Amino acid sequence: MLSANFHETPYWWEAAPIGEPLQRDLPKRCDAAVVGAGYAGLSAALTLARAGRDVHVLEKDTPGQGASTRNGGIASGNLRVSFGRMTELFGRERAKAFYGEGKAAREDLARFIRDEGIACDFSLVGRFTGAVRAHHYEGLARECELLERELGIEAYVVPRAEQHGEIGTDIYRGGAVRPDIGGLHPALFHRGLLERTEASGAIVHGRTPVTGLRPDADGFEIETPRGRVAAGDVIIATNGYTGRHALPWLARRVVPVASQIIVTEPLDADVMNRLNPKRRMFGETRHLYHYFRPSPDGTRILFGGRRGAQSGDPNKKMGHLYRYLLRVFPELEGVAISHCWWGYVAMTGDQLPKVAVHDGVHYATGFCGSGVVWARWLGRKAALRILGDADSETAFDDVPFRAVPLYDGRPWFLPAAIAWQGFKDHVGWY
Ligand SMILES: Cc1cc2nc3c(=O)[nH]c(=O)nc-3n(C[C@H](O)[C@H](O)[C@H](O)COP(=O)(O)OP(=O)(O)OC[C@H]3O[C@@H](n4cnc5c(N)ncnc54)[C@H](O)[C@@H]3O)c2cc1C
Repeated sequence: MLSANFHETPYWWEAAPIGEPLQRDLPKRCDAAVVGAGYAGLSAALTLARAGRDVHVLEKDTPGQGASTRNGGIASGNLRVSFGRMTELFGRERAKAFYGEGKAAREDLARFIRDEGIACDFSLVGRFTGAVRAHHYEGLARECELLERELGIEAYVVPRAEQHGEIGTDIYRGGAVRPDIGGLHPALFHRGLLERTEASGAIVHGRTPVTGLRPDADGFEIETPRGRVAAGDVIIATNGYTGRHALPWLARRVVPVASQIIVTEPLDADVMNRLNPKRRMFGETRHLYHYFRPSPDGTRILFGGRRGAQSGDPNKKMGHLYRYLLRVFPELEGVAISHCWWGYVAMTGDQLPKVAVHDGVHYATGFCGSGVVWARWLGRKAALRILGDADSETAFDDVPFRAVPLYDGRPWFLPAAIAWQGFKDHVGWY
């Protein structure tokens, strides 16, 4: 199934290669340091630098090596807890505030890309979520009705009989369409954000891992193998790449979960027109769900999922994804795969994204696999909070950021948790 020129690197890196960072001297002192150069860190740095702060971004690897150039580029601003369930957990007003902020964040991303002139193939093509069981379809219908009524978010169901107008498969029992969700080229978006961040005066230091962080008289002292930096404020934006040792408080709160994507060779236009007539983004109602989309040029299918992403052998590693791709689109039997890669998303105990302050350190993290919208938005919110700007307010301000019980950064429970999700899918729990 591997094509002759198979790559184990993201398809996205062909249009936007990850460049080696320039090595610049570290400052002795700066107004603010941001740790991590993905969407969240860059968005925070851009906001601070445009407000006149002297900002340095410290990145362990090459800027963009994290999830921000590896993702599916589906700009959903998803919350993993449904609106209906959120209402039961937090009450109607707070559920409306969380979902309302998702809407604001999606709209703000579109505005930002347009105003900044970032060429990243952003397009509001809509997302179709396939119901894997008949009762899931009923659940989707209820959720659409709530989103329309409570938040004015356009959402509607498409019955199985009309499904081929959305997706060329019979595997789903109908599904739901969200026209307000779109897609972008994640690595071009990251590059656009990086260029604007650097142009704003922030300095981005690649290959500069933060190995420790201590409060000092004027803020914080940050340790790196390249030297120490004193900073008045610190924002941590390391998400699924946090690791265990450097930032132990955060390490106990975010669980890195691998997600991977395979890409088909270019398909004939008539095949693409049958499989994805509207060139939509796709999801489904499984707990271990798959997400898929067309390439921005509309010729390939990028197909992602979370199960078994880390194995040494590419054939084994992508076997489950390939098999499921063929279950959704049987006519792709024999199609060759040109790219396969994986990366880490960060899950939180309550499955909500976080913007938090602990011991004076700011955090924007825990995007639970939906950071294209949330990471940029909450990175900016963390920066606005440092600036004392009233716009820093968010619905997530008062949500506690609790440690995951019995967890020290080693996700020993993941195999069992994944098996449990698989079991729920097997019996059809929604
Ligand atoms: C395969 C895959 C598919 C995905 N698909 C989607 C999707 O379709 N839609 C969506 O919305 N989201 C998706 N996501 C999630 C999304 O990519 C992330 O939520 C988002 O990129 C997180 O951005 P970030 O800036 O918080 O973190 P990242 O982009 O992961 O950046 C964190 C950075 O911190 C650095 N770092 C870590 N520790 C240190 C340290 N000690 N010192 C210095 N630097 C450090 C890392 O090197 C890394 O560069 C996907 C993720 C993956 C992996």
